[in-house]
Amino acid sequence: MPKMLESSPNAALDKSLIQHYLTLPIPDGKCQATYIWIDGSGENVRSKTRTLDFVPNEPSELPIWNFDGSSTNQAEGSNSDVFLYPVAVYKDPFLRANNKLVLCDTYKFNKKPTATNRRFTCVQAMEAAKDHRPWFGIEQEYTLLDMDLRPLGWPKNGFPGPQGPYYCGVGANKVYARDIVEAHYRCCLYAGINISGTNAEVMPAQWEFQVGPCEGISIGDQLWVSRYLLHRVAEDYGVIVTFDPKPMEGDWNGAGAHTNFSTKIMREDNGIVEIEKAIDKLSRNHLRHIQAYDPKGGKDNERRLTGKHETSSIHDFSAGVANRGASVRIPRGCAEEKKGYLEDRRPASNCDPYAVTEAIVRTCILNE
Ligand code: ADP
Ligand code: MN
Ligand code: MN
Ligand code: MN
Repeated sequence: MPKMLESSPNAALDKSLIQHYLTLPIPDGKCQATYIWIDGSGENVRSKTRTLDFVPNEPSELPIWNFDGSSTNQAEGSNSDVFLYPVAVYKDPFLRANNKLVLCDTYKFNKKPTATNRRFTCVQAMEAAKDHRPWFGIEQEYTLLDMDLRPLGWPKNGFPGPQGPYYCGVGANKVYARDIVEAHYRCCLYAGINISGTNAEVMPAQWEFQVGPCEGISIGDQLWVSRYLLHRVAEDYGVIVTFDPKPMEGDWNGAGAHTNFSTKIMREDNGIVEIEKAIDKLSRNHLRHIQAYDPKGGKDNERRLTGKHETSSIHDFSAGVANRGASVRIPRGCAEEKKGYLEDRRPASNCDPYAVTEAIVRTCILNE
């Protein structure tokens, strides 16, 4: 048996000490800018911090920066510089004051986007579709893990009781680490993320938060920063966050990133006609979407989209009103009001929201 870590070294630190240092005054006009980017896995985020001698508000004010791409699977050691282009600025909920989080996308030495820069083509699609005012709301499911990679709070030599009491659960034997959920929620609000809610999920130690509605490229930007914030908060607690779409095999729900989508006409009276047209287009492009809905071209979702545990089969497209076993669901309220939005339930929890929203826009709006 490999030796298992009992707990994170982070959890053992006295968390109150940092308050002393964070209240030390810093020179006028200076701030710390933490640059955040997606690494070569297409799933994980990285960050590093620099001092600025001004306080930025717009990404265009921020300097381009670089990092060692050979250490993030984004370049070779012999030609390792990868460039960080700032695309969005948020308030930093950890350092507070004038300090900033700076989301970046990544470019190679020849100014071409890196392989995991899915934002580049997403922006082009959003620009072409912008008159349709595409809105997205993404439900981000995730699982908290202990340092031994077992779901947080699960017995070490057994399993919790079967699913049923945990979804939206309250109480010490129903949910684990609500502190992380609440801390993350506040961090998102402080930073300027349009987080719309949170709930405990069906599998114990699994949670969800929702971001949106956001228009165009901002959903991808905000979801990536909200993921960064979640990893960062959980780090303080010595807990691991996984976005794996099926962290536990067996009779345990997987984790998705249901993507709710509407256009201006869908939101207007009798928009249901337009919603149905979009669903028809989605039905004829199922494979393209499955390929875009996880970072491994469908391989990760194979474990999750089984047709059980509130999922559809990865092999077939289906749609229905209020049907949580369908690929695409029309919420009951939207069917009744004859307008609103559709929910694509296929994206995996570890999807790249740039790839997902680009595919939806190209299929449903640009008719590509
Ligand atoms: P579910 O019932 O599937 O659990 P949630 O309440 O978790 O749904 O999430 C619904 C999401 O849909 C939220 O992120 C919300 O912002 C988003 N949403 C609401 N209206 C629209 C709309 N018109 N277009 C796109 N997204 C929307
Ligand atoms: Mn939900
Ligand atoms: Mn959910
Ligand atoms: Mn949903």
